[in-house]
Amino acid sequence: MSVSRRGFLTGLATGAGMLTAHKANAAGVQQFTGYQGRFGLLHDTTLCVGCRSCEKACKEVNGHPPPDRPIDDKTVFDRHRRITPTEFTVVNRYKPAEGRTPPVYRKHQCMHCNEPCCASVCLVHAFEKTPEGPVLYDPDVCLGCRYCVMACPYHALSYEYDSAFDPKVMRCTMCYPRIKEGKNPGCADACPTGAILFGERDKLITVAKERIRKSPDRYIDHVFGEHEFGGTSWLTLAGVPFKSLELHEGVTHESLPSIGTSYLSVVPLVVTIYPGLLMAFYAFSKRKDKLAQQELEEAVRLALEKADEDTKEKLKQAADKSAKDKEKAINAAVKKALQEAERKAAAEKAAAAATDGADPKETKS
Ligand code: SF4
Ligand code: SF4
Ligand code: SF4
Repeated sequence: MSVSRRGFLTGLATGAGMLTAHKANAAGVQQFTGYQGRFGLLHDTTLCVGCRSCEKACKEVNGHPPPDRPIDDKTVFDRHRRITPTEFTVVNRYKPAEGRTPPVYRKHQCMHCNEPCCASVCLVHAFEKTPEGPVLYDPDVCLGCRYCVMACPYHALSYEYDSAFDPKVMRCTMCYPRIKEGKNPGCADACPTGAILFGERDKLITVAKERIRKSPDRYIDHVFGEHEFGGTSWLTLAGVPFKSLELHEGVTHESLPSIGTSYLSVVPLVVTIYPGLLMAFYAFSKRKDKLAQQELEEAVRLALEKADEDTKEKLKQAADKSAKDKEKAINAAVKKALQEAERKAAAEKAAAAATDGADPKETKS
């Protein structure tokens, strides 16, 4: 796609206009402290043994294929893994801190932010923060622009690049359907050590602080997710500095959407060619849909033609087989009749021979 200089400058001007609007909006945004009684999950990394039962359970509840390698295969920890379209959660191993022997394992997934940045950058409102806590995504309205993937501060989104038709953004759903049924999230139920706790977020924060109070030598005095970027539904406890687990506790307590343009300005592309790109993505999406529709129709037509040819061929084969079977049956019947006739003739001949050679006296009596 070529972009003319005039078109590019027009795009910039429109982008600047939108930025002003963002600033105006940002000025009016109130910090959202969340719905009362909403749910959350607490991952206590001091109890996590890296068994990956949570990963396996997550795959099961989401209908994903089982892990490539057995869950007790520790070589998966040789590198830090990221979330993929069929792995909504991954457990990574972190080197022990100075003076500590056991490694630390941290479970990674979408944090279900109180004020999700993914939702704030999405122009078609494909994301929704539910009163229960989970942030949901609607693939039917998604344009495929992937701003959300770039905007998420936790790298918690993945995109189905390999899907030829209708690629989607993929991530942890916080097991929303299970929560609605009154069940625990799959990973929380599967954890054998109690490292994952599910419940009301406020109560989980109380539990976490109580653990820290009772065992100050065991924990860093901080509940990650209580305030970071405005707070998250997933909370983390640790016995080592959070930054060594790739969680940065020094970040702002303000939600990113409330910061507005200052955050969005570090998101590549969003500031400068935002409107132009959006239209291109939209056009591409529509073109892709149209092409997909044409390809689908063509595939159906070819399939029907092939089915027709296959049917004709099958009928011909059946007719040939039937004719052959009939021929075989006739031949067999003729052969059988001939054999029967031969058998009868032989029997009559034998009877006649016996009569000719018989004792006349015996014959008379
Ligand atoms: S962690 Fe990322 S994907 Fe999940 S709700 Fe927050 S911004 Fe959205
Ligand atoms: S809450 Fe559900 S979707 Fe999210 S990591 Fe746990 S099992 Fe997977
Ligand atoms: S199931 Fe529990 S102990 Fe095992 S890796 Fe997951 S969080 Fe850690």
